[in-house]
Amino acid sequence: SGRCDHYDAMMRVGIMGGTFDPIHHGHLVAASEVADLFGLDEVVFVPTGEPWQKSEATVSPAEERYLMTVIATASNPRFTVSRVDIDRGGPTYTVDTLRDLSTLYGEHTDLFFITGADALGKILSWKDATDLFELAHFVGVTRPGFELNAEHLPADRVSLVQVPAMAISSTDCRRRVEEGKPVWYLVPDGVVQYIAKRGLYRKHGS
Ligand code: ATP
Ligand code: MG
Repeated sequence: SGRCDHYDAMMRVGIMGGTFDPIHHGHLVAASEVADLFGLDEVVFVPTGEPWQKSEATVSPAEERYLMTVIATASNPRFTVSRVDIDRGGPTYTVDTLRDLSTLYGEHTDLFFITGADALGKILSWKDATDLFELAHFVGVTRPGFELNAEHLPADRVSLVQVPAMAISSTDCRRRVEEGKPVWYLVPDGVVQYIAKRGLYRKHGS
């Protein structure tokens, strides 16, 4: 009650972190569904930085993944893309993502970190795991092939939600491009075209 009520209205911002190599409709449906269920004002897609050391799987350059994420989200007025993880450099730790975005958005924003069932199960092994739950509410979403389970996570800071089942992974999209198979309707049209234009995921020399 009082004149300053509008100052108490918290912004609700979703965060969708990922490698996005490439971004696909599984990511987009999850973000859209959580935005609807949780009344989010915005969902920020945050492509990961490039690992310092070569990891077992080679990840496409950050700028390519960033541009595909921008292309895929451009048409949705509530979707934005953040460069915080790319600009920090090195491997991405979610706690750093949340600290940066929490500083950027300020105290009048509640953050909701959206994560698929496969990644949710690994949260306790993430850097500074206990701090994560103070920085954001976690929303675990269903993903075909994985069990959605938050057994060892703080119940008051984690929600589990069902999203339309999309049996799509970036790994599968990359493999399909490498094999000359189509990725139409698995990723947004603009991303299909960007992959072709830049020759991403094709075997070297082909
Ligand atoms: P990769 O095969 O390279 O690991 P990916 O398809 O798993 O790619 P990521 O960029 O690793 O995509 O995932 C980012 C986030 O999106 C993770 O939290 C992941 O669990 C979630 N996610 C990815 N695909 C789906 C999907 N089809 N349904 C629901 N959530 C998904
Ligand atoms: Mg993955």
